[in-house]
Amino acid sequence: MQDFPLTLDRFLDHAARWHPGCELVTASHGGEVARVGYAGLRERSRRLSALFADLGIVPGEHVATLAWNTQAHVESWYAIMGMGACCLTLNPRQTATELGRMAAAASCRVLIASADLLPLARALSAGAPGIGHILVIDGDAVMPAAAGPLSTDERPLEQPLEPLLERIAAAEPDGIAADPGWGRFDERSPAGLCFTSGTTGAPKGVTYTHRATFLHTLRLLQADVLGITRQDSVLVGVPMAHANAWGLPFAVPAVGAKLVLPGRRLDGASLAALIEREGVTLAVGVPTVWLGLLEHLEAHGGSLPSLRRICMGGAAMPPALMARLEQRLGVVVQTSWGMTELSPSGTVAPLSATGRSAALSGRPAIGVDLLLTDADGVPLPQQRGPEGHLRVRGAAVIERYFGQAEPATDAAGWFPTGDLARIDADGNLAITGRSKDLIKSGGEWINPGAIEAIVGAHPDISLAAVIGRQDEKWGERPILLVETRDDREVSGEDLIEALRGRVASWWLPDTVLRITAMPLTPTGKIDKTLLRSTYGSD
Ligand code: ADP
Repeated sequence: MQDFPLTLDRFLDHAARWHPGCELVTASHGGEVARVGYAGLRERSRRLSALFADLGIVPGEHVATLAWNTQAHVESWYAIMGMGACCLTLNPRQTATELGRMAAAASCRVLIASADLLPLARALSAGAPGIGHILVIDGDAVMPAAAGPLSTDERPLEQPLEPLLERIAAAEPDGIAADPGWGRFDERSPAGLCFTSGTTGAPKGVTYTHRATFLHTLRLLQADVLGITRQDSVLVGVPMAHANAWGLPFAVPAVGAKLVLPGRRLDGASLAALIEREGVTLAVGVPTVWLGLLEHLEAHGGSLPSLRRICMGGAAMPPALMARLEQRLGVVVQTSWGMTELSPSGTVAPLSATGRSAALSGRPAIGVDLLLTDADGVPLPQQRGPEGHLRVRGAAVIERYFGQAEPATDAAGWFPTGDLARIDADGNLAITGRSKDLIKSGGEWINPGAIEAIVGAHPDISLAAVIGRQDEKWGERPILLVETRDDREVSGEDLIEALRGRVASWWLPDTVLRITAMPLTPTGKIDKTLLRSTYGSD
């Protein structure tokens, strides 16, 4: 058989050859959209690779991006990865200090930044002095005018990318970018570096290889996973800085579906307008993003007839939100579980699943395997039924964190996820909590996830979080924080009543607090670290 290296540039090569006119669409300011066909996207990405080569970027080196979900960001990914360099995706919602530390650890010399993020780009480069160039993208998409070139001895050279690309185009009489050396490297080379959201601790770097992401893409495309087809128009509501945007910038072009990117705006009104305009059939992201869309439609009316399903993951799916979305929008909600360390998809509930529920996240597809253990990592004798600590092994699962010598897996290659889970008789995964979130009260463990799942099903509650508060007598006691739906009044007693009989009596939260807006992490999850620092002690 032929040797066919599994490198990511092949996805765009394939899309350009077989689906040249199929589009990538980006929402920009003022409700406008920008469009490019996959053939045009490939051509521009190859030119960008040539530009990187001119800047001295070599295969294996890290190039950072600090950008929203836009065409230029996707072009940057393919340009960096295609030439064998590795893309460090920096999350614009993290601090300059954190981001500077990441860019310095990866020895980045070039940073690609959205124009409206230039202040953050400059601030982070103070912590990563190796950065010599900031290439500015999306000057017209996200703000009226791009910043002009400015350079001092101390500051990195800032240049708008577009004129540089045009200059390369003009230098090529036939309009074809000189061969930028795409795919001429080992398929095990790094393609991307992404840091975890840090929901429970300091962010840790995960390096994705071409081979792993290629195999992850094939897994995503299986019919019982995301099953995207050429007829789909896919809205990527998960930031490109969060776990490779769940692999969608590879999977969607791979099958010639339309790739719809929301730019920097993830509010309900902007998403609704984009879904309608681009005939979006599948929308993907964390639950809080789709809560915003739902609340917008509930407040302002309107329907989204093209939208057939929403795939959610990254955090527990509030059952009431799932029911509201399905009823209000007439969509099917596909639940899933994953994490940065898994590239990120672990399991997805198939569309056809009987007994779909917010609590179930489906089975693993070929290429990933699950194991439940006790707290010491000893496999549970009975894998179906009891709750255990979840470990994962597979083709796109982490081996070691970036910069670490020690493996992140046990001796048998299983990666401990830090999640607690059950697997039902049909093999469906139910995430029941996070081991780091557990509350130790009087020497016994309380699982906040179990309490949140019950309170989250209450029709008046939009988001619920349980954290431990220091307690002299018990060590820690649970408190419940809720954000109510449309500012509805709900008494703490009602919520405790809903829990009574369904969890052990000593699990019942001592205090119920209503907060106007649940704090969210840079990836849109409930920020428990902040909740703990605010409410975790008297
Ligand atoms: P972080 O660990 O910093 O949040 P990730 O963005 O990689 O970083 O998130 C992975 C975590 O998100 C998982 O370990 C799990 O706790 C949570 N998660 C993902 N999907 C689900 C789900 N369907 N139900 C409950 N929790 C989930």
